[in-house]
Amino acid sequence: PFDVLVVGGGPAGASAAVYAARKGIRTGVVAERFGGQVMDTLSIENFVSVKSTEGPKLAASLEEHVKDYDVDIIKQQKVQGLSKKDLIEIELENGGLLKSKAVIIATGARWRNVGVPGEFEFKNKGVAYCPHCDGPLFEGKDVAVIGGGNSGIEAAIDLAGIVKHVTVLEYMPELKADKVLQERLYSLSNVTVLKNVQTKEITGDEKVNGITYMDRDTEEVRNLKLEGIFVQIGLVPNTDWLDNFEKTRFGELIIDNHGETNIPGVFAAGDCTNSPYKQIIISMGSGATAALGAFDYLIRN
Ligand code: FAD
Repeated sequence: PFDVLVVGGGPAGASAAVYAARKGIRTGVVAERFGGQVMDTLSIENFVSVKSTEGPKLAASLEEHVKDYDVDIIKQQKVQGLSKKDLIEIELENGGLLKSKAVIIATGARWRNVGVPGEFEFKNKGVAYCPHCDGPLFEGKDVAVIGGGNSGIEAAIDLAGIVKHVTVLEYMPELKADKVLQERLYSLSNVTVLKNVQTKEITGDEKVNGITYMDRDTEEVRNLKLEGIFVQIGLVPNTDWLDNFEKTRFGELIIDNHGETNIPGVFAAGDCTNSPYKQIIISMGSGATAALGAFDYLIRN
């Protein structure tokens, strides 16, 4: 069996694997897609100490760093269950079973898509999901935010300080965000809020040039010219395969400050946890915490 088995090969999983392996204990990583969300990212400018890089390049360095140690990397394998007996057992979709004394779950999350024509084609060409990451790319430009919940309104307030103008599109007749956020939003002069509208299409040629939406009252269809669209309709943690774990109402695993879940010996890190901010640098830090937490657990048990 492994001493530490990491599930997930994104920034959190890679960092956990390096930290565990450096303790000289038997470490494994099982991942469906090594690199995780970083593989879908074009430019990264907030991974401090690296001024600018690209997703696939960072993902390759993550893997290279893990391979520098004696870590068993099991790629292209999906995990579908966890059970705790004497050891912790990880069940693979292909029927395989991996056993470990401690496990670190780092399965990340995925942004919910709006699912309209143009969204996929213009990803990283004007369609963005992370205002902390991509906001500065739209300095002085017109952008839209799809989604009027807390994350959408936080994004709109954040972007209003950087871009020329922000239009918020909310499907329902009212915004769902907290009142204080709405008040802050309405106090800004460069924000327009469109409620009860349905996004129909993201238009563009090489890059995004507009958004087509329908007023749900009048069924009138309009196109708004702009250069960027932030989709903010939810981040879904990849934790649906886990039962008997304490989770937030969004499905994030609840961890303590050693990265441990409610099940002793099972740790978690990165975007699949209740960490309030989801970023590469934060995931890596929490991966390190979880590995050190797991090591502490092993020397006590
Ligand atoms: P992930 O990167 O999501 O990795 C999860 C890993 O788990 C993957 O290897 C996946 O294959 C695996 N996995 C999931 N489920 C299973 C399963 N059932 N079985 C086996 N393996 C599984 N952050 C920044 O700091 N700066 C940026 O510029 C930036 N830009 C971004 C741009 C885009 C388009 C996106 C989508 C995100 C961006 N982020 C950025 C956010 C950043 O990518 C995430 O915060 C970070 O990747 C989270 O790392 P993680 O390891 O927790 O999860």
